[in-house]
Amino acid sequence: MRKPGAFWAATLAIAMLLPGSVVVGQMGADSPEGKPPLLSGLDKRFIDAGADPCIDFFKYACGNFIKYYPIPKDRSGYGVGAMVNDRNEYILHTMLEKASAGGADRTANEQKIGDYYSSCMDVDAINKKGLQPLQADLNRIAALKNKKELTPLLAHFQLINANAFLGFGEQQDFKDATKQIALVDQGGMGLPERDYYFRTGEAAEKTRKEYVQHIANMLKLMGEPEAAAASDAQKIMQLETALAKASYDIVTQRDPNKVYHLMPVSDLQKLTPEIEWTKFLADAGAPGTTELNVTNPDFFKGLNELLKSTDMETIKAYLRWQLINGVPSISLPAAFDAENFAFYAHKLRGQPEQRARWKRCVQATDGALGEALGQVYVAQEFSPASKEATVQMVKDIETAMDEDIDTLDWMSAETKVRAKAKLHAVADKIGYPDHWRDYSKLRVERDDAFGNAQRAVVFENNRQIAKIGKPVDRGEWGMSPPTVDAYYNPSMNDINFPAGILQPPLWDPKATDAENYGHIGGVVGHELTHGFDDEGRQFDGRGNLSDWWTAEDEKKFIEKADCTVKEYGNFVAVDDVKVNGKLTLGENTADNGGLRLAFMAFLEDAKRKNIDLSEKQDGYTPIQQFFLGHGQTWCGDTRPEQLRTQVQTDPHSPRQFRVNGVVQNMPEFGKAFGCKPGQPMMPVNACRVW
Ligand SMILES: [Zn+2]
Repeated sequence: MRKPGAFWAATLAIAMLLPGSVVVGQMGADSPEGKPPLLSGLDKRFIDAGADPCIDFFKYACGNFIKYYPIPKDRSGYGVGAMVNDRNEYILHTMLEKASAGGADRTANEQKIGDYYSSCMDVDAINKKGLQPLQADLNRIAALKNKKELTPLLAHFQLINANAFLGFGEQQDFKDATKQIALVDQGGMGLPERDYYFRTGEAAEKTRKEYVQHIANMLKLMGEPEAAAASDAQKIMQLETALAKASYDIVTQRDPNKVYHLMPVSDLQKLTPEIEWTKFLADAGAPGTTELNVTNPDFFKGLNELLKSTDMETIKAYLRWQLINGVPSISLPAAFDAENFAFYAHKLRGQPEQRARWKRCVQATDGALGEALGQVYVAQEFSPASKEATVQMVKDIETAMDEDIDTLDWMSAETKVRAKAKLHAVADKIGYPDHWRDYSKLRVERDDAFGNAQRAVVFENNRQIAKIGKPVDRGEWGMSPPTVDAYYNPSMNDINFPAGILQPPLWDPKATDAENYGHIGGVVGHELTHGFDDEGRQFDGRGNLSDWWTAEDEKKFIEKADCTVKEYGNFVAVDDVKVNGKLTLGENTADNGGLRLAFMAFLEDAKRKNIDLSEKQDGYTPIQQFFLGHGQTWCGDTRPEQLRTQVQTDPHSPRQFRVNGVVQNMPEFGKAFGCKPGQPMMPVNACRVW
């Protein structure tokens, strides 16, 4: 599922399709200590009155946050979004405890979510089984006699999320969004991104050394003697480095034209003759596929050379590693879980301790059965009034964009007509889907954590693959209802706001309109603007990759966007590591355009309701409240290791720049806080795209 416009999460366009996700080790208390607090729309405790809002608005709005809420030991960063998430986790935990208590009167969905959760919590049963659940796959690897036999194994690996050599999945055809097609993607690496294999400098070299050690440790836990594990880990690293060499970096992967190469399967066969593609597709659940998107043809050429030149024993070691790394570690024995945590969470992200098991099992259940869990969540936590208010805000912000397009001085009348056609075609999805996913074919057993996790993965992958060749379901959601996030999907041309993010303080029925527009209004504007950022603007209202811009307007867009690239590219995130202005361009464009739209909509709302914009309430004018609402969306702190990883992998800028980078482009902010032109938050050369 492609979610390029997510609001909080690190999503890397197509690279997120199928490869195994990173889940980590175990420790911590196994029941909640109490219901996490609800923050209010504007929390004056967090304001650092000693800071100058014109010099560093993030410090002013959020400077005291960490005095109240320092980063917990089980987090690599913490803030308002994480607090909303904590509260949702607590609520879901209560539901799951109830459902897991059993009883004959449970509905089919209650049985599934309850038993999934309960099996996940049963560490003793997981430890007792050891690696037995993986034995069949390990035997298959051991029995490989030649490279010809690799094809069916690689297809099987795709279905169980073992990220060996490549990625496979389904997407809407970029150039014909009514069609669902197969795609093969670069893949097969265990580090977060291709540049991790090549970046120079002490920190990067240390990470590579730790990664090789981690692979060796996992192989040792699987029963290899120490010397063999160490030598295999080195060979695996060499193999992954060769895959990385043939891979696109993350900036390139954001360019839809660079990751779209529709071709007949016979052409792919010429690129990678070592794999028998017709068999691969049939075994992976897509028989009869005649054409597909090969995202990166050079990768598949490189893969062929690599398959030819690598000996079978190294390939087998690599497959064992990718198999174990693809399994959610929470369903593996404790030693594996702890080793996985030590590398991916502790070393890469600086997280001191593993999260409590109940929290991880809540997340795992949501990941596997999100729309079953979500039905109960929505009934309890998302009132019709909340839905109505959000629908209204979305409409207001869409109206603001309509007016914004009218007033743009750089865009021609011709392109404006097409921009508006796209805007009017955006589908709004709020809270939860109209039709719930049917999990009746997914078997969940009370004492089988590993089997449940694997069946859920296969169920979801089969569901995705089954879409190939079928009409598009426009009502589908790519996030579960309790998720604290939002996204825009260019192929669907839809904006999606799960009920999980429509919660205080982001949307607070008790807050002022100004605060709500600053908080959730900014989120809504952000997702809408994604349809018009450097990536989204290349798709039209029907979701097709087609150039609807005049050459002159496109040139002006690129010039304006370049200002944003430079602005953010100068922000220093940690040590000497700067924000990647090109990687974060789409998100920064969405942050900037989004808050401007929210501001316009707020002014309209104030007019409608006769709100006096000069009258202070609780110490702040409504416009100041609006900006404080925006600023406080990002209150929090991030560990340095996580910051480094974020800047190198995540298209979202670090939190302080999502505040300061935006307000310094809005002269309305400087005016509201009495800043002087030339001060940091009111620069003379502000950037503006939308
Ligand atoms: Zn976004």
